[in-house]
Amino acid sequence: MRCPYCGHDDTQVKDSRPTEDNTSIRRRRSCLACGGRFTTFERVQLRELTVVKRSGRRVPFDRDKLMRSVQVALRKRAVEPERIERMISGIVRQLESAGESEVKAEQVGSMVMEALMAIDDVAYVRFASVYRNFREAKDFEDLLDSLATDQEEANPGSTEAPDEGKG
Ligand SMILES: [Zn+2]
Repeated sequence: MRCPYCGHDDTQVKDSRPTEDNTSIRRRRSCLACGGRFTTFERVQLRELTVVKRSGRRVPFDRDKLMRSVQVALRKRAVEPERIERMISGIVRQLESAGESEVKAEQVGSMVMEALMAIDDVAYVRFASVYRNFREAKDFEDLLDSLATDQEEANPGSTEAPDEGKG
């Protein structure tokens, strides 16, 4: 598992145990290069999901990307990692059990907002404002696309994970 802080490939599992609800295995890892600590979860995947972007582009659903964008919103907020994990799992389970293999990016966004509202007001406001800006940016991008059809799409929807929060 690659270190999210320095990109080093060699990380060590320090602790491994089932989560409270017994739906996944939680592992505490430590990077051998920079000493950064992070947590990974092993879990069941029921169904392959595809996210349909506003542009109509289809990308495989990426749970880690969803987790990263939620973690950005929750940065420096006192919320238990397991609680965040449960929230993400709840959203994924809802999506997986909805019976559709394709979900709209907007649908995922509003589910996250709804879930964050119940967990942390500040994170909710952060996520909502980033999400709204993204939508406006996307509208602008759509406009540019219609003016210059051969323009390459530059990885929309990716959220940079912050390089802080070690330890
Ligand atoms: Zn590292």
